[in-house]
Amino acid sequence: MTRSFLDALTQPTPLLADGATGTMLQAAGLPVGEAPERWLLDNPVAIRKVAAQYVAAGSDMIYTCTFGASRVGLSRCGLEDKFETINRTAVELAREAAAGKNTFIVGSIGPTGEMLEPYGEFSLDEARASFAEQAALLAQTGVDALVCETFTDLQEALLAVSASKENASVPVLVSMAFELNGRTMMGVTPEDAVFRLTDAGAAAVGSNCSVGPESLEQVIRAMKAARPQARLLAKPNAGLPQVVNGHAVYNVGPAALAAFATRMKSLGVAVVGGCCGTTPEHLRAMRRALGG
Ligand SMILES: [Zn+2]
Repeated sequence: MTRSFLDALTQPTPLLADGATGTMLQAAGLPVGEAPERWLLDNPVAIRKVAAQYVAAGSDMIYTCTFGASRVGLSRCGLEDKFETINRTAVELAREAAAGKNTFIVGSIGPTGEMLEPYGEFSLDEARASFAEQAALLAQTGVDALVCETFTDLQEALLAVSASKENASVPVLVSMAFELNGRTMMGVTPEDAVFRLTDAGAAAVGSNCSVGPESLEQVIRAMKAARPQARLLAKPNAGLPQVVNGHAVYNVGPAALAAFATRMKSLGVAVVGGCCGTTPEHLRAMRRALGG
């Protein structure tokens, strides 16, 4: 990789991120409720294959399968002693999937999964230490950027961004999950999120998961109106999941996500991609819509 991630982030055409990992792995046989991080050890080929499909679909950047791989997250499934192996393996698999391509590798960091004080018992210091440790390790493995994604608590997102910035010298992106009412589950507004997180030094701020492209677009437009200079990131689900025979089914197809990508480009958004329910087919359609 020779071009710089920050340069790429400021081009007129948005960077195309990847699509879903979890729902793709479930389609490949990962049992519902099983952590993708466990599959990194048991079935690394499946993880690499999903990433390679996004690279082939034209993604400019792919996320590592490390969303739940903080020591805190791994301890909930008895894998805390595999913290280093899982994070390193995830980066290697992403790099192998992108071999020979100009694809950026972005280290994914999810929320701790614990309720932080003052809402819960988990201390801010513990959360900060967890983010710091994972960010430092991912940066050591040579990722091009980090993304703190699917946060609902603004305080936790701020901790993740600041701990990542202090422990890694790569750009840090951040995205929060907003509900249909335009707020996160913890009541955060798009305006508060974009102000606080850009002030904290995030290279791009945005939204992923939870809702489909139409609702997520309202969030992105609110962020843009509040802070027009902010670099934004938009990674919607393929619609709201409907549960059919115990399985989540997503109804928004590739053409609708391609149209979404075009609108995001007109709005000057820096990164677009897909979250739960999106597939390489969705990403291929988005690539065609964006050009490049
Ligand atoms: Zn999602």
